[in-house]
Amino acid sequence: MEGNGIQVAKLEEKKLKQYEDEVSHLALDIGGSLIKVVYFSSSSCCSSDDEQHGFLKDGIDASSGNLNYRVLTGRLHFLKFETSKISECIKFLSSKRLQHYGHQDGEAPASEKRIVKATGGGAFKFADLFKEKLGIVLDKVDEMRSLVAGANFLLKAVQHEAFTYMDGQKEYVQIDHRDLYPYLLVNIGSGVSMIKVDGDNEFQRISGTSVGGGTFGGLGKLLTKCKSFDELLELSRQGNNRVIDMLVGDIYGGMDYSKIGLSSTAIASSFGKAISENKELEDYRAEDIARSLLRMISNNIGQIAYLNALRFGLKRIFFGGFFIRGHAYTMDTISVAVNFWSKGEAKALFLHHEGFLGALGAFLSYEKNAFTDFTHQFMEQHSSKSESSCSTGNGFESLTCDDVKDSGFIECRVQVRN
Ligand code: ADP
Repeated sequence: MEGNGIQVAKLEEKKLKQYEDEVSHLALDIGGSLIKVVYFSSSSCCSSDDEQHGFLKDGIDASSGNLNYRVLTGRLHFLKFETSKISECIKFLSSKRLQHYGHQDGEAPASEKRIVKATGGGAFKFADLFKEKLGIVLDKVDEMRSLVAGANFLLKAVQHEAFTYMDGQKEYVQIDHRDLYPYLLVNIGSGVSMIKVDGDNEFQRISGTSVGGGTFGGLGKLLTKCKSFDELLELSRQGNNRVIDMLVGDIYGGMDYSKIGLSSTAIASSFGKAISENKELEDYRAEDIARSLLRMISNNIGQIAYLNALRFGLKRIFFGGFFIRGHAYTMDTISVAVNFWSKGEAKALFLHHEGFLGALGAFLSYEKNAFTDFTHQFMEQHSSKSESSCSTGNGFESLTCDDVKDSGFIECRVQVRN
């Protein structure tokens, strides 16, 4: 009886160890709020048999028997840390010895041999810190280019990546690779970037707004005394925005303004009720404030995104960035905004790996040196929201599962140059 459970556990442990042991290719996206880490760990080399079982997709000639390449089975891991706690990230990388798995530049002087691809402003800001603490040189990859590369990769290679979200209903959308472009990519991080994507490497940042995730976090903290983003998000779940927002019905005596298509429940003015009510900040519930704030920011981004899509005749708008956090109310609000302003013509689409676009893009920029045609060689088998290696083992004491929440991995196979 002892048997099965323990045996399975041991097997799992062994499997995990194996994944941990053979880590390769690490990339970072060091943003204003969060550091995103992507790394690949291989479990074993697969035989040519595996290749015949349909793991490689998109017309790649896996049977050509090219000896310059081999196929690795493994996991692509996704982790995030708060930028303000960068030392935790450094500690984690150090504990996993991930810093030893960047690209090795044979021609560089010994002190500059470990090169890790990194994007985001922090790749500049913290370059010296990474050099000093981990002995790695951050090879900067352009942020917009990384976002686009990451989004294109996910949309082409990962099944169940894009989905719509409306009235609590999530629907996965199958993307036809031949009909992907053009599209609008809206990345909602601390700030917001809107990028028109026309091809694999063809894009233009056409707009943006400074009212983004950082605004929600910052204003939310000041107004509600919340300590963390998650707390703020949780509060918003329980709030009612009608307590503070001025609705069309508040102005029109409970009636719709149907002539211009505004229902009585539409928001006429975010936070507008607070003007006329004889109340102080403390008289409002933190839940309602958080809800109104989330609604205001999500709505605004949805509207600006749609207007930019309209400018360029783009029908599909993909939303990424960690502001979204798969949060139902956020996605619902953005979807409603896009649907409302486009009169049902445009659709908001969300990405499962929303916050990792930049880090993935940086990861893919190793391609030229090590991975070959990675985009097309990638095969998702399984993806998980729970990072299996988030235990506090490996000498890394302060990292808890909470710290790596929202992370995960995708099991995949990649073809790499020998
Ligand atoms: P950046 O690269 O600017 O850091 P991200 O895509 O990582 O952008 O998104 C950052 C935003 O995500 C924050 O401004 C905040 O709104 C939201 N967010 C989600 N989870 C967290 C978290 N644990 N801590 C801080 N912000 C978070």
